Amino acid sequence: MAKQIKKERIKVPEQDPKARIHNFNEVALGYTFELAKEEASRCLQCPYNFAPCIKGCPVNVNIPGFIKKILEEDIKGALEVIHKTNSLPGITGRVCPQEEQCEMNCVMGKLGDKINIGKLERFVADYAREHGIMPETEIAPKNGKRVAIVGSGPAGLTAASDLIKMGYDVTVFEALHEPGGVLIYGIPEFRLPKDIVHYEVKYLKMLGAKIETNVVIGKTKSLYDLAKEYDAVFLGTGAGTPKFLNIPGVNCKGIYSANEFLTRINLMKAFKFPEYDTPIRKGKKLAVIGAGNVAMDAARSALRVGYEEVYILYRRTREYMTAREEEIHHAEEEGVKFMFLVSPVAFIGDEDCNVKVVKLIMNRLGEPDSSGRRRPEPIPGTEFGLEVDAVVFAIGQKPNKVLYQEVPELKTTRWGTLVVDENYRTTMPGVFAGGDAVRGEATVVLAMGDGKRAAKAIDEYIKTGEWPKEIEPHNF
Ligand SMILES: Cc1cc2nc3c(=O)[nH]c(=O)nc-3n(C[C@H](O)[C@H](O)[C@H](O)COP(=O)(O)OP(=O)(O)OC[C@H]3O[C@@H](n4cnc5c(N)ncnc54)[C@H](O)[C@@H]3O)c2cc1C
Ligand code: SF4
Repeated sequence: MAKQIKKERIKVPEQDPKARIHNFNEVALGYTFELAKEEASRCLQCPYNFAPCIKGCPVNVNIPGFIKKILEEDIKGALEVIHKTNSLPGITGRVCPQEEQCEMNCVMGKLGDKINIGKLERFVADYAREHGIMPETEIAPKNGKRVAIVGSGPAGLTAASDLIKMGYDVTVFEALHEPGGVLIYGIPEFRLPKDIVHYEVKYLKMLGAKIETNVVIGKTKSLYDLAKEYDAVFLGTGAGTPKFLNIPGVNCKGIYSANEFLTRINLMKAFKFPEYDTPIRKGKKLAVIGAGNVAMDAARSALRVGYEEVYILYRRTREYMTAREEEIHHAEEEGVKFMFLVSPVAFIGDEDCNVKVVKLIMNRLGEPDSSGRRRPEPIPGTEFGLEVDAVVFAIGQKPNKVLYQEVPELKTTRWGTLVVDENYRTTMPGVFAGGDAVRGEATVVLAMGDGKRAAKAIDEYIKTGEWPKEIEPHNF
């Protein structure tokens, strides 16, 4: 008799919402070996050349290949399959929007639930880490060439890892005191424990990457120096400059950018103040402006630092929210309150300029804008006030200009992103760029894919010395 395939996904155990809002421990607890095998057994093992999951993964992990190894109880083998194209599986398994990528066209979706690829990838990375299992990595003999990487986010770390494997001597320069980029200072512990980022960075160092922290290229050292000292440079400097609304009262105390709010909590451990010396404003009510993943992270972090009422203020309706469904669901379970069709028009502070009220106006949805989403239009006479003790802006981020300002030959677009061609070449010979610095705010795995392809282009450039006279701008 043919084997019956289980249609439903094997559920991943999670921390109870009532308990988890009082701690920063991970929400999703991950599969046990038994549960991972059960979920792996649902995969139809589509042939390599056809499997839509592989095509949907921006770094083309051989997904049926590693799932088969789980079934064979060969976790080292599974890890090695993943590591062939992805050096950060503990991270991608947790933070990738799998529903829009590998899982989107999973064939099992026609018979039942799609395979939970992200949680299986995470299981392999976690099991290997907990049991001291390391992948065997082929590293080419040293070729005597040096590459500098600026920024240690997923784009920089991936480019570094691939170049080391090709035999390059690689140094990563990072402005902050810890490597990892958004993985360290942005994404909260309850979605991505920092020990996992430390572990994956340690693995990279073990392969031979040198990481110099507290170095701001453009201040501590110039890009011209790097271009002289190294055979090529890769810029993976991200998009870390926050956007604010220029409305009355925006400089009141207690109004944060999500970047600052999350950096205080994640990087500086302000939730453990005074054990750690960075404080964070405490209070009862906090409002987050925005409705993307960053907004969900800020709102859920606020609950965990003790805010009792946390609001998401969004100018459109729920269907237009850009956050992942899973994150919205977790925020709802935890008690975050959502206010739709509202826009802030001013902040009102007390005599010491501490924010006390956010003044909002109601919107209606008008005609679609250039993004295809219906434009919010304020309804005159509908202003009202919401009492708050703090506000977090999560309405987007753009690249930081520190590095580019001193280098006029580096061209940027009108959104502040770096101009590159399809091979990630900037307008300065020998200098490549990828990740959010080129795309604007995007995703971890897209940044990794850029780092990967840029590493290949760097290798080709160093081998041939060829650089085009004109850079043909490419839209990523
Ligand atoms: C709060 C938050 C939550 C997110 N959640 C998700 C998620 O769940 N899933 C997902 O896929 N994506 C998520 N993203 C987006 C994702 O994190 C980014 O797309 C990704 O990190 C971009 O990688 P990157 O390497 O280009 O840049 P970054 O991660 O931004 O790293 C850039 C690094 O360069 C350093 N740097 C900048 N300038 C200089 C300089 N001049 N000299 C030296 N160093 C410099 C910075 O300090 C930083 O460490 C989130 C983003 C945020 C802010
Ligand atoms: S598409 Fe789905 S069923 Fe097919 S190999 Fe990939 S994960 Fe398995």
